[in-house]
Amino acid sequence: MSVKFIEGRIVGRKDHTESLFSLQFDAPLDGFVAGQFCRVGLQLVTEKGDEIVMRPYSLVNSPNERPFEIVLIEVAQASGGVLTPALAKLKIGDPLYVAPRANGFFSMPEVPDADVLWGLSTGTAIGPYLSFMKTDAPWSKFKKVVFVHAVRTAAELTYRDQIDAIAQAHPEQFQYIPFVSREDVPGAIRGRIPNAIADGSLEARAGLALTAETSHCMLCGNPDMVNDTTAILEARGLRKHKRKEAGHITTEAYW
Ligand SMILES: Cc1cc2nc3c(=O)[nH]c(=O)nc-3n(C[C@H](O)[C@H](O)[C@H](O)COP(=O)(O)OP(=O)(O)OC[C@H]3O[C@@H](n4cnc5c(N)ncnc54)[C@H](O)[C@@H]3O)c2cc1C
Repeated sequence: MSVKFIEGRIVGRKDHTESLFSLQFDAPLDGFVAGQFCRVGLQLVTEKGDEIVMRPYSLVNSPNERPFEIVLIEVAQASGGVLTPALAKLKIGDPLYVAPRANGFFSMPEVPDADVLWGLSTGTAIGPYLSFMKTDAPWSKFKKVVFVHAVRTAAELTYRDQIDAIAQAHPEQFQYIPFVSREDVPGAIRGRIPNAIADGSLEARAGLALTAETSHCMLCGNPDMVNDTTAILEARGLRKHKRKEAGHITTEAYW
């Protein structure tokens, strides 16, 4: 029988805002492909009784970096959050459960070559992009990589140090375009990703065309962004990518 989970231990924690935080942990996990997620959990008393509650989280670290790292938002109990209110209380040294094998297809080996990779993310979905942008894979696969991070407030524009390091390592290939919806922030576009694709402002900012001939789009995070953006891209002639039939859109919705 395969092992469902193993024990890990928190070795680091960073709080970005009151509800947005990163956890670092050690655990004897199998290797993984950059962009994949692992399942993390805790023993909790829920309405079903005493149980281990596991949820998927994208790994932020690249496969050759340790410790393992995830970035997450606390969903308040009143809004239906079960595991995150408990994860939000974890301190260095605390145990947690981790499934031994990472999973998922939101990764470079699953994506076809193109001139431009558009990496479109919301909130905590910055994680898988950081993981694979810290490897060599996207830089040999694409001529340009445009990474878009859409959040509500400037404080949620996380991992700026890692973004800066990626920009320094790939100055000709990489562009970072932040979106902030609830406040004006210098350098950021105020608004939502689907609207900025529909009205051409994202392409104008990047100085690149987003077409089926040139582009592959990876969409991750909030399902409204994923669905609305997919609809706009499909109206432009881009198709969902399938293993058996190459397309232009790869998605991972977080809920
Ligand atoms: C493949 C995959 C990868 C994921 N990776 C991450 C990750 O890296 N970081 C992360 O924070 N979450 C991630 N999630 C979501 C995560 O698994 C949990 O659903 C989330 O942390 C909430 O857990 P919960 O038990 O507190 O509430 P749940 O019972 O899981 O969800 C309750 C409600 O919370 C809302 N919600 C869930 N996730 C989010 C979110 N990220 N932001 C805002 N609202 C949300 C939804 O309305 C959902 O219905 C991922 C989900 C999937 C499917």
